[in-house]
Parts: sequence; C-alpha cells; structure tokens
Amino acid sequence: MASVILEQPPENQSTVTAQPKKSKKREEREQIICKFHKENLKWSNVDWVILLWMAGIHIGAVAAFFFISWQAVVTCLVLHWATASIGICLGYHRYLSHKSMKLRAPAEFFVLLCGVLSGEGSPLTWAATHRLHHQKSDKHGDPHSPFEGTFWSHLLWLFVYRSKEVNQKFFEHYVPDMKDRKMLQFFEKTYGLWVVGSGFVLFGIGYAMGGMYMAWSMLLWGLCARMAFVYNSTWFVNSATHLWGYRNYETTDQSKNLWWVAIVAYGEGWHNNHHAHPSVAPAGHRKWEFDITWWSIKALRAIGQAYDVNDRIPQKNAEPEVDPEPGKNGIVVAK
Ligand SMILES: [Zn+2]
Ligand SMILES: [Zn+2]
Repeated sequence: MASVILEQPPENQSTVTAQPKKSKKREEREQIICKFHKENLKWSNVDWVILLWMAGIHIGAVAAFFFISWQAVVTCLVLHWATASIGICLGYHRYLSHKSMKLRAPAEFFVLLCGVLSGEGSPLTWAATHRLHHQKSDKHGDPHSPFEGTFWSHLLWLFVYRSKEVNQKFFEHYVPDMKDRKMLQFFEKTYGLWVVGSGFVLFGIGYAMGGMYMAWSMLLWGLCARMAFVYNSTWFVNSATHLWGYRNYETTDQSKNLWWVAIVAYGEGWHNNHHAHPSVAPAGHRKWEFDITWWSIKALRAIGQAYDVNDRIPQKNAEPEVDPEPGKNGIVVAK
C-alpha cells in the first residue's frame, strides 16, 4: 500500500534549519486537534447550519410517516444503500480515508457522488476527520470518542463550529494527498448544491407521479427519512462499536465487533477488525462476519473499475497494524 507521508520522518531533519520548521508544523497540528475537543461545544460556538439541518432532517423523518407510499419507501431503501454502503462505507471510508483499493475515474466519481448525497459532509472533511479518529482513537483529540460521553460521540460532536481557515489547515495536515485533486475540489465547492438539488429532484419526480402528496412523500422518504437512518447508522459506528461487542484483535483503542451495527452500517460494525487492520478492504475477517459493502467492492473489481484491492485478511491473532499512529493504513502521522 502506498503511504501518504504527512510529515517528514526524523532522519530528514538533519539540518539545523529544518528543526524549528518541523516543530512549528507539529505545534500547528496540535492547535488544530484542540478544535475538536469537547470543551469547544458551547452555545457561543455552535455550528447552527449543521444543527438546524439535523433538526430539520429528523423532523422530516417523523413527518414521512404521514406521507407513506410504496414508491417513496422503495426509493428510500435504494438511496439508503447507495449513499451509505457505496458512498460512505466504500467511497469515503475504505477508498478515500484508507486507500484500501484504487478506482477508475467513472467509479470514483460515482461512489464519491453517492457519498456527497448521503449528507455526511464533503469527501475531504469526512476523510480528514476519520483519519484524526484513527490517529487519536479513544484518546483526547479523538473527534468522537464515547469515553467523553455517549451522546457526544453519537451526535453532539457534529455541532462544534470550526472556521474555514481551521478547516483548510486541517486538510493540509490530514488529507495532503488529496486536498488539491480536481474531483475532490469540485465536490468541495459544489457539495451543498448536490444535497439541496437532490431534494428538489425528488420533490419534482414525486409531483410528476401524483401531485403534492407524492411530491412530499418522495422528499420526506427519499431525503429526510433516508438521511436520518443513514446518519444514525454511521453514528452507531462511532458510539456503539467503541462500547459493546467482542474483539478479534488487541488494539490500543476500545473498538469492538458488533453484529447489529454491521447490519445497519453495511459491514462497518466489524470495527475492531477495522481498527486493527485499517488498510484491509473487507471489514469481516471471520466466516460469520457479514460485510455487504465487500460484495460491491468485489463487483467493481470484476468489471475492472476497482483494482489493487487489499484483500489480505490477516491471520488469527495477527499483530494489529500500527494504530492509532497508523503507519501502514494509508497515512503516516508523526507524533
Ligand atoms: Zn473507530
Ligand atoms: Zn477507518
């Protein structure tokens, strides 16, 4: 696996002038990590856009039950799979954050677009936050550890405001390998348009199918209910799988394998396997560890759209990859 060096290794800092530069970078990174600490969650520092969006989506999900139609429920299920399994699990997580495979451009655009439509943030924001989670897992600086509060890890951590400048620095430190790539910059700039635009498209299709009732039915099921289900499934990976379940590997964090999260989050519930071996594409390492996202990766590989897939499931009791300073999982973050 190709590694992305976020900071020069120690042997490269032999000159007198290189040393202060490196310390400055390290200091800058520590300042960025501080912005993810729980202490930043105050009324004066709330990200109102995200808070109001989340409230709106969950209210819409409840309202969906007053506008039931089979067409809208089927749309909800299909988009749930496309955005959560293909977009988040395959695209944002295993492909972008951990580089456990390579994708041809058409597949890359499609899976990243599915991720954008999930409403879980831009690809760069998601990948950078996730890499920080692996680096600091269950330690101070982990953006969403349940050991700082179950609700904090499930949801509240999303409501901390961070400025554009901080996010820019965050990308420089955690996703330097991809922050300037054209496709990712494109999604960074157009992210909101895709999410809001998909709501108008669903509403329009519904209206054409059967007037205002179907318009609301398609919007509330296809966007609100679907997003609410996807959000909570993903958040259970952050909260529940660091609290409950069994462990195949002795990692330095508290990650666990939890069967019901593996079902609702398309394989991501085998979270101890993943923390132990983040660069491995299949999340299920035992016969019974069902991982539906892995089927899609195999399908993409069969049609030539995915290649260099890291499918080497480790031996039982194999040493975990270096984690939470993941030297072998696609990134190197110096201490
Ligand atoms: Zn985790
Ligand atoms: Zn991960």
